[in-house]
Amino acid sequence: DAPDDQSAPVVPSDPAAPAEGPALIALEGVHKAFGDLHVLKDCDLRVAEGEVAVLIGPSGSGKSTLLRCINQLEEPTAGRVRIAGVTQGYAEEPLPDGRWQKLSPQQIARQRARIGMVFQRFDLFPHMTALQNVMEAPVHVLGRPKAQAEKDALALLERVGLADRAEHYPSELSGGQQQRVAIARALAMEPELMLFDEPTSALDPELVAEVLTVLKELAEGGMTMVVVTHEMGFAREVADQVVFMADGQILEQGTPEQVIDHPQSDRLQGFLASVL
Ligand code: ADP
Ligand code: MG
Repeated sequence: DAPDDQSAPVVPSDPAAPAEGPALIALEGVHKAFGDLHVLKDCDLRVAEGEVAVLIGPSGSGKSTLLRCINQLEEPTAGRVRIAGVTQGYAEEPLPDGRWQKLSPQQIARQRARIGMVFQRFDLFPHMTALQNVMEAPVHVLGRPKAQAEKDALALLERVGLADRAEHYPSELSGGQQQRVAIARALAMEPELMLFDEPTSALDPELVAEVLTVLKELAEGGMTMVVVTHEMGFAREVADQVVFMADGQILEQGTPEQVIDHPQSDRLQGFLASVL
Protein backbone atom coordinates (compact mmCIF):
# COMPACT_ATOMS: atom_id res chain seq x y z
CA ASP A 1 0.00 0.00 0.00
CA ALA A 2 1.52 3.30 -1.09
CA PRO A 3 -0.68 6.21 -0.02
CA ASP A 4 1.66 8.81 -1.52
CA ASP A 5 1.45 7.37 -5.03
CA GLN A 6 -1.17 9.84 -6.20
CA SER A 7 0.89 12.86 -5.22
CA ALA A 8 4.04 11.53 -6.84
CA PRO A 9 5.00 13.70 -9.79
CA VAL A 10 4.32 12.09 -13.14
CA VAL A 11 7.56 12.57 -15.02
CA PRO A 12 7.58 10.90 -18.41
CA SER A 13 10.83 9.00 -18.60
CA ASP A 14 12.58 10.34 -21.63
CA PRO A 15 16.21 9.33 -21.69
CA ALA A 16 16.68 11.07 -25.01
CA ALA A 17 15.71 14.50 -23.72
CA PRO A 18 18.79 16.67 -23.81
CA ALA A 19 20.08 17.48 -20.36
CA GLU A 20 20.38 21.16 -21.11
CA GLY A 21 19.80 23.74 -23.80
CA PRO A 22 16.90 24.15 -26.19
CA ALA A 23 16.43 21.59 -28.94
CA LEU A 24 17.71 22.64 -32.35
CA ILE A 25 15.41 20.05 -33.93
CA ALA A 26 12.05 19.30 -32.33
CA LEU A 27 9.41 17.04 -33.84
CA GLU A 28 6.15 17.23 -31.97
CA GLY A 29 3.42 14.69 -32.66
CA VAL A 30 4.41 14.35 -36.31
CA HIS A 31 2.17 12.22 -38.50
CA LYS A 32 2.55 11.63 -42.21
CA ALA A 33 0.11 9.79 -44.43
CA PHE A 34 0.27 9.07 -48.14
CA GLY A 35 -3.39 8.46 -48.90
CA ASP A 36 -4.40 5.50 -46.75
CA LEU A 37 -0.81 4.68 -45.89
CA HIS A 38 0.01 6.02 -42.42
CA VAL A 39 3.81 6.25 -42.63
CA LEU A 40 4.66 8.33 -39.53
CA LYS A 41 2.65 7.98 -36.35
CA ASP A 42 2.94 10.55 -33.58
CA CYS A 43 6.70 10.97 -33.74
CA ASP A 44 8.39 13.07 -31.05
CA LEU A 45 12.08 13.75 -31.30
CA ARG A 46 14.40 16.35 -29.83
CA VAL A 47 17.95 16.89 -30.97
CA ALA A 48 19.98 19.51 -29.11
CA GLU A 49 22.48 21.74 -30.82
CA GLY A 50 25.71 19.84 -31.39
CA GLU A 51 24.03 16.50 -30.80
CA VAL A 52 24.13 13.47 -33.10
CA ALA A 53 21.01 11.32 -33.40
CA VAL A 54 21.29 8.01 -35.21
CA LEU A 55 18.06 6.65 -36.64
CA ILE A 56 17.75 2.90 -37.09
CA GLY A 57 14.94 0.59 -38.08
CA PRO A 58 13.82 -1.88 -40.73
CA SER A 59 13.29 -0.89 -44.33
CA GLY A 60 9.94 0.85 -44.79
CA SER A 61 9.69 1.97 -41.14
CA GLY A 62 9.59 5.65 -42.10
CA LYS A 63 13.17 6.80 -41.51
CA SER A 64 13.58 8.61 -44.83
CA THR A 65 10.13 10.15 -44.51
CA LEU A 66 11.02 11.48 -41.08
CA LEU A 67 14.20 13.09 -42.45
CA ARG A 68 12.23 14.49 -45.37
CA CYS A 69 9.75 16.07 -42.94
CA ILE A 70 12.61 17.73 -41.06
CA ASN A 71 13.83 19.16 -44.36
CA GLN A 72 10.37 20.11 -45.70
CA LEU A 73 10.63 17.75 -48.63
CA GLU A 74 7.42 16.36 -47.12
CA GLU A 75 4.80 18.26 -45.18
CA PRO A 76 3.58 16.50 -42.02
CA THR A 77 -0.10 15.56 -42.09
CA ALA A 78 -0.27 16.58 -38.44
CA GLY A 79 2.10 17.84 -35.78
CA ARG A 80 4.99 20.16 -36.35
CA VAL A 81 8.70 20.30 -36.92
CA ARG A 82 10.59 23.14 -35.30
CA ILE A 83 14.15 24.14 -36.09
CA ALA A 84 15.71 26.48 -33.55
CA GLY A 85 12.23 27.22 -32.24
CA VAL A 86 10.75 28.15 -35.61
CA THR A 87 8.05 25.91 -37.07
CA GLN A 88 9.04 24.66 -40.51
CA GLY A 89 6.89 26.17 -43.24
CA TYR A 90 5.84 29.18 -41.16
CA ALA A 91 7.19 32.68 -40.73
CA GLU A 92 9.42 33.37 -37.74
CA GLU A 93 7.12 36.04 -36.34
CA PRO A 94 3.31 36.15 -36.17
CA LEU A 95 1.33 38.77 -38.07
CA PRO A 96 0.20 41.81 -36.07
CA ASP A 97 -3.18 40.08 -35.53
CA GLY A 98 -1.41 37.06 -34.02
CA ARG A 99 -1.92 34.65 -36.91
CA TRP A 100 1.05 32.67 -38.15
CA GLN A 101 1.65 32.97 -41.83
CA LYS A 102 2.54 30.01 -44.04
CA LEU A 103 5.61 30.61 -46.15
CA SER A 104 5.66 30.74 -49.93
CA PRO A 105 7.58 28.03 -51.83
CA GLN A 106 10.45 30.50 -52.32
CA GLN A 107 10.58 31.26 -48.61
CA ILE A 108 10.44 27.54 -47.82
CA ALA A 109 13.39 26.98 -50.14
CA ARG A 110 15.31 29.61 -48.18
CA GLN A 111 14.37 27.95 -44.88
CA ARG A 112 15.39 24.58 -46.27
CA ALA A 113 18.81 25.92 -47.22
CA ARG A 114 19.68 26.02 -43.51
CA ILE A 115 19.69 22.22 -43.55
CA GLY A 116 22.22 20.13 -45.43
CA MET A 117 21.18 16.72 -46.69
CA VAL A 118 23.21 13.83 -48.06
CA PHE A 119 21.52 10.81 -49.60
CA GLN A 120 22.48 7.22 -50.18
CA ARG A 121 23.21 7.94 -53.84
CA PHE A 122 25.86 10.61 -54.30
CA ASP A 123 23.95 12.69 -56.80
CA LEU A 124 26.83 14.82 -58.05
CA PHE A 125 26.57 16.75 -61.30
CA PRO A 126 28.41 14.38 -63.68
CA HIS A 127 29.62 17.09 -66.06
CA MET A 128 31.29 19.13 -63.29
CA THR A 129 34.56 18.54 -61.45
CA ALA A 130 34.58 17.94 -57.70
CA LEU A 131 35.49 21.60 -57.19
CA GLN A 132 32.70 22.83 -59.51
CA ASN A 133 30.19 20.60 -57.72
CA VAL A 134 31.10 22.14 -54.37
CA MET A 135 31.13 25.73 -55.74
CA GLU A 136 27.85 25.47 -57.63
CA ALA A 137 25.33 26.37 -54.92
CA PRO A 138 27.39 29.05 -53.14
CA VAL A 139 27.80 30.86 -56.48
CA HIS A 140 24.33 30.33 -57.94
CA VAL A 141 22.16 30.24 -54.83
CA LEU A 142 24.07 32.41 -52.35
CA GLY A 143 25.56 34.72 -54.98
CA ARG A 144 29.12 34.35 -53.66
CA PRO A 145 31.89 35.77 -55.84
CA LYS A 146 33.53 32.93 -57.75
CA ALA A 147 37.02 33.47 -56.34
CA GLN A 148 35.71 33.31 -52.77
CA ALA A 149 33.55 30.27 -53.50
CA GLU A 150 36.52 28.48 -55.05
CA LYS A 151 38.72 29.20 -52.05
CA ASP A 152 36.01 27.95 -49.67
CA ALA A 153 35.34 24.88 -51.83
CA LEU A 154 39.02 23.93 -51.85
CA ALA A 155 39.12 24.24 -48.07
CA LEU A 156 36.08 21.96 -47.81
CA LEU A 157 37.59 19.39 -50.18
CA GLU A 158 40.70 19.49 -48.02
CA ARG A 159 38.54 18.91 -44.95
CA VAL A 160 37.05 15.72 -46.47
CA GLY A 161 40.51 14.58 -47.58
CA LEU A 162 40.09 15.30 -51.29
CA ALA A 163 42.25 18.36 -51.94
CA ASP A 164 44.11 16.39 -54.61
CA ARG A 165 40.90 15.39 -56.41
CA ALA A 166 39.48 18.88 -56.96
CA GLU A 167 39.82 18.75 -60.76
CA HIS A 168 38.47 15.21 -61.11
CA TYR A 169 35.03 14.40 -62.51
CA PRO A 170 32.67 12.14 -60.53
CA SER A 171 33.24 9.27 -62.97
CA GLU A 172 36.94 9.44 -62.06
CA LEU A 173 36.24 9.10 -58.32
CA SER A 174 35.41 6.09 -56.18
CA GLY A 175 32.01 5.88 -54.51
CA GLY A 176 33.53 6.87 -51.19
CA GLN A 177 35.24 9.88 -52.75
CA GLN A 178 32.02 10.90 -54.52
CA GLN A 179 30.13 10.71 -51.25
CA ARG A 180 32.76 12.86 -49.57
CA VAL A 181 32.40 15.43 -52.35
CA ALA A 182 28.63 15.32 -51.76
CA ILE A 183 29.25 16.05 -48.06
CA ALA A 184 31.57 18.95 -48.94
CA ARG A 185 28.93 20.25 -51.32
CA ALA A 186 26.29 20.21 -48.58
CA LEU A 187 28.68 21.91 -46.14
CA ALA A 188 29.39 24.65 -48.70
CA MET A 189 25.93 26.06 -47.95
CA GLU A 190 27.00 26.48 -44.31
CA PRO A 191 24.04 24.53 -42.92
CA GLU A 192 23.02 24.73 -39.28
CA LEU A 193 22.39 21.01 -39.24
CA MET A 194 23.00 18.01 -41.45
CA LEU A 195 20.79 15.08 -42.35
CA PHE A 196 22.31 11.87 -43.72
CA ASP A 197 20.10 9.18 -45.24
CA GLU A 198 22.04 5.91 -45.35
CA PRO A 199 25.16 7.69 -46.60
CA THR A 200 27.22 4.50 -46.82
CA SER A 201 24.68 1.88 -47.93
CA ALA A 202 25.54 2.18 -51.61
CA LEU A 203 29.27 1.87 -51.00
CA ASP A 204 31.55 -1.12 -51.33
CA PRO A 205 32.44 -2.29 -47.81
CA GLU A 206 36.05 -1.10 -48.02
CA LEU A 207 34.90 2.48 -48.76
CA VAL A 208 32.50 2.82 -45.82
CA ALA A 209 35.11 3.80 -43.23
CA GLU A 210 36.43 6.85 -45.10
CA VAL A 211 32.92 8.33 -45.23
CA LEU A 212 32.14 7.49 -41.60
CA THR A 213 35.42 9.16 -40.59
CA VAL A 214 34.25 12.39 -42.24
CA LEU A 215 30.91 12.14 -40.39
CA LYS A 216 32.72 11.52 -37.12
CA GLU A 217 34.95 14.55 -37.63
CA LEU A 218 31.91 16.66 -38.43
CA ALA A 219 30.28 15.50 -35.21
CA GLU A 220 33.42 16.25 -33.23
CA GLY A 221 33.41 19.73 -34.77
CA GLY A 222 30.01 20.31 -33.17
CA MET A 223 27.69 19.82 -36.15
CA THR A 224 24.13 18.85 -35.24
CA MET A 225 23.33 15.71 -37.22
CA VAL A 226 20.61 13.16 -37.81
CA VAL A 227 22.04 10.07 -39.44
CA VAL A 228 20.08 7.10 -40.77
CA THR A 229 22.54 4.23 -40.77
CA HIS A 230 22.87 0.59 -39.89
CA GLU A 231 26.52 1.01 -38.99
CA MET A 232 26.19 0.10 -35.32
CA GLY A 233 29.87 0.71 -34.59
CA PHE A 234 29.42 4.30 -35.75
CA ALA A 235 26.22 4.64 -33.74
CA ARG A 236 27.91 3.35 -30.62
CA GLU A 237 30.90 5.63 -31.02
CA VAL A 238 29.35 8.85 -32.29
CA ALA A 239 25.65 8.97 -31.41
CA ASP A 240 24.37 10.93 -28.43
CA GLN A 241 21.04 9.24 -28.95
CA VAL A 242 19.89 6.26 -30.96
CA VAL A 243 16.29 6.22 -32.18
CA PHE A 244 14.61 2.97 -33.23
CA MET A 245 11.70 3.21 -35.63
CA ALA A 246 9.30 0.47 -36.63
CA ASP A 247 6.03 0.80 -38.55
CA GLY A 248 6.21 4.59 -38.51
CA GLN A 249 6.61 4.85 -34.75
CA ILE A 250 9.55 5.70 -32.58
CA LEU A 251 9.59 2.59 -30.43
CA GLU A 252 12.74 3.13 -28.40
CA GLN A 253 15.21 5.92 -27.97
CA GLY A 254 18.09 6.62 -25.67
CA THR A 255 21.85 6.43 -25.41
CA PRO A 256 23.66 3.85 -27.56
CA GLU A 257 24.14 1.84 -24.39
CA GLN A 258 20.43 1.84 -23.65
CA VAL A 259 19.21 1.13 -27.16
CA ILE A 260 21.93 -1.10 -28.59
CA ASP A 261 22.99 -2.96 -25.46
CA HIS A 262 19.70 -3.07 -23.58
CA PRO A 263 16.87 -3.25 -26.13
CA GLN A 264 13.48 -3.47 -24.44
CA SER A 265 11.20 -4.69 -27.20
CA ASP A 266 11.20 -7.89 -29.25
CA ARG A 267 11.11 -5.70 -32.36
CA LEU A 268 14.37 -3.97 -31.49
CA GLN A 269 16.04 -7.19 -30.34
CA GLY A 270 15.11 -8.81 -33.63
CA PHE A 271 16.29 -5.83 -35.63
CA LEU A 272 19.63 -5.66 -33.84
CA ALA A 273 20.16 -9.38 -34.38
CA SER A 274 19.76 -8.75 -38.11
CA VAL A 275 22.31 -5.91 -38.34
CA LEU A 276 24.92 -6.65 -35.66
P1 ADP B 1 12.60 3.80 -44.67
O1 ADP B 1 13.43 4.97 -45.05
O2 ADP B 1 12.59 3.51 -43.20
O3 ADP B 1 12.91 2.57 -45.48
P2 ADP B 1 10.46 5.30 -45.94
O4 ADP B 1 10.28 6.53 -45.14
O5 ADP B 1 11.22 5.42 -47.20
O6 ADP B 1 11.07 4.16 -45.00
O7 ADP B 1 9.05 4.70 -46.31
C1 ADP B 1 8.07 4.40 -45.35
C2 ADP B 1 6.83 3.93 -46.06
O8 ADP B 1 6.26 5.04 -46.75
C3 ADP B 1 7.05 2.86 -47.09
O9 ADP B 1 5.96 1.97 -47.04
C4 ADP B 1 7.07 3.61 -48.38
O10 ADP B 1 6.66 2.82 -49.45
C5 ADP B 1 6.08 4.73 -48.12
N1 ADP B 1 6.32 5.96 -48.89
C6 ADP B 1 7.43 6.74 -48.80
N2 ADP B 1 7.32 7.81 -49.60
C7 ADP B 1 6.12 7.69 -50.23
C8 ADP B 1 5.41 8.49 -51.20
N3 ADP B 1 5.93 9.62 -51.69
N4 ADP B 1 4.20 8.05 -51.60
C9 ADP B 1 3.67 6.92 -51.10
N5 ADP B 1 4.27 6.13 -50.19
C10 ADP B 1 5.49 6.51 -49.76
MG1 MG C 1 15.05 5.14 -46.34
